[in-house]
Amino acid sequence: MNWQEEDLKYIWHPCSQMKDYETLPPIVIEKGEGINLYDTEGNCYKDVISSWWCNLLGHCNPRISSAVKRQLDTLEHVIFANFSHKTAITLCQKLMEIIPEGLCKFNFADNGSASVEMALKMSFQYHLQTGHPKKVRFMALSDAYHGETLGALAVGGVDLYSEMYKPLMMDVIRIEGLDCYRCPYGKCRDNCLCECFENAEKAFEKYAEETAAVIVEPLLQGSAGMRIYPPLYLKKLRHLCDKYNVHLIADEIATGFGRTGKMFAFNHAGVSPDIMCISKGLTGGYMPMAITVTTQKIYDAFYDDYLKGKAFMHSHTYSGNPLACSAGIEVMNILKDEHIIEKAQEKAVYFNNIIKDKFLPLKNVGEVRSIGLINAIELVKDKNTKTPLDSKLRTGYQIYKKALQKGVILRPLGDVIYFNPPLIIEKNDMDFVTDIALECTKEILG
Ligand SMILES: *Cc1c(COP(=O)(O)O)cnc(C)c1O
Repeated sequence: MNWQEEDLKYIWHPCSQMKDYETLPPIVIEKGEGINLYDTEGNCYKDVISSWWCNLLGHCNPRISSAVKRQLDTLEHVIFANFSHKTAITLCQKLMEIIPEGLCKFNFADNGSASVEMALKMSFQYHLQTGHPKKVRFMALSDAYHGETLGALAVGGVDLYSEMYKPLMMDVIRIEGLDCYRCPYGKCRDNCLCECFENAEKAFEKYAEETAAVIVEPLLQGSAGMRIYPPLYLKKLRHLCDKYNVHLIADEIATGFGRTGKMFAFNHAGVSPDIMCISKGLTGGYMPMAITVTTQKIYDAFYDDYLKGKAFMHSHTYSGNPLACSAGIEVMNILKDEHIIEKAQEKAVYFNNIIKDKFLPLKNVGEVRSIGLINAIELVKDKNTKTPLDSKLRTGYQIYKKALQKGVILRPLGDVIYFNPPLIIEKNDMDFVTDIALECTKEILG
């Protein structure tokens, strides 16, 4: 059977121009192990993008696999309204040990976008039920990414995904800033005072009265091109939100569970959000699951006699799916007893050093930036002026195609090459994937 031909007969792949598959058909993966994926022809690919950032502890991790198998023969799914199960309760107990202080109520969804929708609705309804019916809008950062459903897309600010759908979406207040590589104040992210925060202050002064919440990807704007900004920004935002009675929603979907070197990105700032969305790493990349976590205070605003109509009438069929919860529990166990995040921090230093050594000398590398094991290489036309490459050349995509032939999955964001590997990556693989990436970059850029 020609699996690639069969695939294209039926499948409309996500986030793809299907015509591109004429020259580069989908790679049909047969099995996975650790950071390796193997296709039906037996070729091996290093998955240094963690299969869209969700694989945390390697493919077919034996501990997670057996946890899910055990659950599979016990209970596969049950309605989560009026019913519960030990697996979900246990997962919440485990999460309580690690989530930022003050967060304590867990509402389950089955994907990240849905958990963002939930956070937005929750915030709006909280304000409605606590005497602030004018708070009907949301603030978000420029170039933010929060998912693909209409509400999540509206708070997102990456035009590539949202521009066309503007007529369908709510009007969001956009806070400019956070491209630290091209800082308009001429500062550097390691020692600035977040001068750009004045944009947030201005937005709050003008719009806080009509604003329910501000949503952020803490420290790392992933889809924007792995942009990294300082923790001070979150601290300041916490302060501003308190002053104006606006909720701070942390979209930790990409940053959670050790990706930034700490359990959550908010841990770097030493403050807590009012609502936090978690998903990708939560099940180690095994099962679709997300949770919107919030505070007792927000929860209490919905708690009353049924006829008062204050309940949060939001549901997803697969809420709290036991198989996903069993994966989640085992992920938390592994993170803890195999000291994964501590070890990843050590590896992160090595990884960042070899990437800087290899890439910074290239004339088209504008910046190498990193947080945790995530490293991004921004390619530019001119280092001094930081002029981007002509996007029509699709340089990143050319590099992607080359690297695939050599067994590495890079999948750049525009012309930003990045690594976001499973936390269990070893040094020899770091050497290998960076060598290949360098080779391909040189071949494409000359
Ligand atoms: C992936 C992602 C989402 C959306 O999650 P899905 O499960 O793809 O719907 C939202 N926010 C951030 C920061 C993400 O990285």
